[in-house]
Amino acid sequence: MNTTVIDHIGIAVQSIEESLKFWEGSLGIKCTEVETVEDQKVKTAFLPIKDSEVELLEATSPESPIAKFIEKKGEGIHHIAIRVDDLESALAELKQKGIRLIDETPRLGAGGAMIAFVHPKSTGGILLELSQRQTDI
Ligand code: ZN
Repeated sequence: MNTTVIDHIGIAVQSIEESLKFWEGSLGIKCTEVETVEDQKVKTAFLPIKDSEVELLEATSPESPIAKFIEKKGEGIHHIAIRVDDLESALAELKQKGIRLIDETPRLGAGGAMIAFVHPKSTGGILLELSQRQTDI
């Protein structure tokens, strides 16, 4: 599979508004987009740094995976996303290698990207997201 760049780092936060005081106010990294992904019950904010982004994740409901994550572990790094140029073939390759996938087929993520998660059991404890940008298709 062809991996190209760290696409983004997903950080679980209680409040995007509060977190932006640090990321924008203190670090000076501008938030370019806020988007709610309904089926994941999450509000996302993207802060690009060159070719990668920081993705702030705020739960929109107590049943959100982000709410459960914060309840268990507190705020912090939730996942790391690596960009691939062909997500479907990357998933097929991992499956063939016996890697445990959370998403066996690509689904639509924030920013119009196609994404799939790899299970932390197969990655040494990291929730790994593979992401294919529409512009790469
Ligand atoms: Zn992500």
